[in-house]
Amino acid sequence: MKHILTITLLAAALVGCSTQKGVVIKKTQSASKAKSHEVVINSVTGYQDTPMEPDGLWHVHDPARPQPTIVTPGATFSENAKAPSDAIVLFDGTDLSQWRDQKTKGEAPWKIVDGAMVAEKDYIETTNKFGDIQLHLEFREPTPPTGSGQGRGNSGVFLMGHYEIQVLDCYQNPTYADGSTGSVYAQHPPLVNPCRPPGEWETYDIIFTVPHFDADNKLTVPGYVTVILNGVVVQNHQAIRGETAHRTVGKYTFHDATGPLALQYHNNPVAYRNIWVRPITVDNEP
Ligand code: MG
Repeated sequence: MKHILTITLLAAALVGCSTQKGVVIKKTQSASKAKSHEVVINSVTGYQDTPMEPDGLWHVHDPARPQPTIVTPGATFSENAKAPSDAIVLFDGTDLSQWRDQKTKGEAPWKIVDGAMVAEKDYIETTNKFGDIQLHLEFREPTPPTGSGQGRGNSGVFLMGHYEIQVLDCYQNPTYADGSTGSVYAQHPPLVNPCRPPGEWETYDIIFTVPHFDADNKLTVPGYVTVILNGVVVQNHQAIRGETAHRTVGKYTFHDATGPLALQYHNNPVAYRNIWVRPITVDNEP
């Protein structure tokens, strides 16, 4: 879901200051959304008027939640990895035939530039639907970087169109931990931050198993996701709490056993290339 554009600290009216554990908290009030109070803690802008996560420790988008430790990724890992023979190639640099506009279901409105597809106008989704998958894709943040926090290089990979693995320029760009690159957005921060500088290609290798619902459409098994970012595990068989959305705790709503993969347009021209997916089976026998 697109985030609500908040007014910058400079533009917002300063309505209060307080201290918490020795840090200065500035509360700002957006002119357009009076109930949404941004707070800045240790240079991270977020919220503390949001619901608590089920663990009871943090608000959704809590700027006080610890930042993921920075890890310098190694070599190229899966960059330019050739698709296995049984993979479905979703983008090979030449055409957008596997994609469509998520809203209109018409032609995908993204542009192809130098073998990469660049986000613009709207979310796009695959014309095919998938269940349990292994997904490979590569993304590149705009350079020079512009904006800050969630406004810098924001996009996202939406599994089944519902569950966002965040894409953001998190290289020297602090933001609330549950919105960092590699997070299950608004739920689980990445275990570490192995982001490369903007302008460099980054790799996502994602293994996802779908949530299951019973005959009454009640959740029986959550979705699980393992995410490897630039060769570094940032989500390890992590249970997804439900649909990911700005300022809200994840909640499941019944949906089909398969769904399209979607990529987010969030006002930033994030580029993607080399996207392929393998439907996989689950065998949990010990
Ligand atoms: Mg996003």
